[in-house]
Amino acid sequence: MNLILMGLPGAGKGTQAEEIIDKYSIPHISTGDMFREAMANGTELGKKAKSFMDQGNLVPDDITNGIVKERLAQSDTKDGFLLDGFPRTLDQAQALDEILADLNKKLDAVIEIDVKPDVLIDRLAGRFICRTCGATYHKTFNPPKVEGTCDRCGGHDFYQREDDKPEAVKNRLDVNIKNSQPILAYYQAQNLLHKVDGDRDIQDVFTDVKKIIGA
Ligand SMILES: [Zn+2]
Repeated sequence: MNLILMGLPGAGKGTQAEEIIDKYSIPHISTGDMFREAMANGTELGKKAKSFMDQGNLVPDDITNGIVKERLAQSDTKDGFLLDGFPRTLDQAQALDEILADLNKKLDAVIEIDVKPDVLIDRLAGRFICRTCGATYHKTFNPPKVEGTCDRCGGHDFYQREDDKPEAVKNRLDVNIKNSQPILAYYQAQNLLHKVDGDRDIQDVFTDVKKIIGA
């Protein structure tokens, strides 16, 4: 099975990726890992990517696509792969089609873990930290045992990181939604897109994922 996994930050993509690679024994190919591997191995493309990143610049698409192609050409993908974090743009999605055609492969499914942005804001913006000892909490998933009192140090002074504040979370989600929409539409038009309701238990979500992969 040649799969792409998509979903907004906080949708539970990482958890589902773990379940999938565990059950189907296919490699989890994430962009971050691919770049780290190419740079660690000192491949030509890895060196080029590093020079852009060292200068704080985005790695151009031709280099990123080349790294993806090198990775997908490796023998461990013969029974399939789970691509995660790529493609990020419509151009990359089109490039991926060419890469796969060159490698005599084709996509079987694009799975989108779908969770409404409002739910994600609750999930992602609920994190807060004890100012005294640094213990982290979540207002829904991991609240202090006594409201307003740190379990670890008994402190009462909490704060939120800038990145965890609702406004920042909302902006991050908006950017992600804007970027992913054309990609989702591209795969929808090819009948490859499968949406899974991600606002449920991990195992319930995975049951639906398995149905898609098994079909
Ligand atoms: Zn504390």
